[in-house]
Amino acid sequence: MIEIEFIHPHTVNEIRNRLLAWFAQYQRPLPWRTTYRPYHVWIAEIMGQQTQMERVAMYFLRWIEQFPDLAAVAAAPEQKILKAWEGLGYYTRARNIHRTALYLIDNGAADIPADYQQLLALPGIGPYTAAAILSIAFNQPYPLLDANVERVFSRLADIDSPLKKASTKKQFTAMADTLLDRDQPRQFNQALMELGALICTPKRPACISCPLQVYCRAYQADTVAYRPLPIARDKKTDILMACGVLYKEDRIFIQQRLPDDIWGGLWEFPGGQLKESETPLHGALREIHEETGWLLERLDVLATVTHYYTRYRVTLHGFYGTLHPSCPEPILTAASQYAWVPLNQLHQYPFPAGHRQLVHILCS
Ligand code: SF4
Repeated sequence: MIEIEFIHPHTVNEIRNRLLAWFAQYQRPLPWRTTYRPYHVWIAEIMGQQTQMERVAMYFLRWIEQFPDLAAVAAAPEQKILKAWEGLGYYTRARNIHRTALYLIDNGAADIPADYQQLLALPGIGPYTAAAILSIAFNQPYPLLDANVERVFSRLADIDSPLKKASTKKQFTAMADTLLDRDQPRQFNQALMELGALICTPKRPACISCPLQVYCRAYQADTVAYRPLPIARDKKTDILMACGVLYKEDRIFIQQRLPDDIWGGLWEFPGGQLKESETPLHGALREIHEETGWLLERLDVLATVTHYYTRYRVTLHGFYGTLHPSCPEPILTAASQYAWVPLNQLHQYPFPAGHRQLVHILCS
């Protein structure tokens, strides 16, 4: 066991016991916590990357209803997988789940493996996710460090160096390793993360209800509000886009993005990024021409929607227009296929976030 400066060895057990007792009483009833089936834990962990737990719980239940096990994922076409994932974003995660299921079923497995190296070899599983699956699904003694745990540790030890600094990371690793309850890693890891999510929150932590208050150095030093040391946030980059919802008689044109694209396999209205000094209308007309060959003279304003990604703020200007019934079929340059879809069937296709907002507006 690594000795860390602020925790006397005889208090380690006390911290564990307090944390576990608190977790037993206050943990959220998340759906994968009823059985801890490896398949369930894996899906929850992948969904939980970049997504809040409440959303994960909602999507998880829908997912399990459609794909109750690994074999069901492997048997599903990619479009069904992407549709079930729609709204969670970062679609590579869904594709990796599909690839993993196909690979494991092809190799005779019935569930996710219980081995660190085997897990790391699977698409979309890095060291953190492998350790999370092993500790939570298989109760193996792997310590876990996520943003919630780092925040708890930085306050518990009153760490006054930036989160990203290598020496801070080293200190976190030592704490995680020292504190881990090797007899109950599943419960212990979840208890720490849950404490960070429910009590030791980024703003206004509920120290009064915290089971670790008596050991918390930041609480004693009145420095809770300054821990962890804030990280300078990168400013979001603005991206301006425009697209056109094109009607021909009672159907709408949509196209499927190329497979190696960032949203490969998803569907969209033709459009793209505006050039410098270009108006949204001109951008939409130009993009439609470039992507389909259609030269339109007019488009009307539908709506402008905004969507946020980790580093970008995307503003999408949506227009609509009508094509003549005898217009030629499109010449696709940015899509693998296209479809003419009645309005009431648009929701059956998976769209990226901005275009999905336009679909909601069209259908409301
Ligand atoms: Fe976090 Fe407050 Fe508990 Fe310290 S006492 S660990 S700051 S909730």
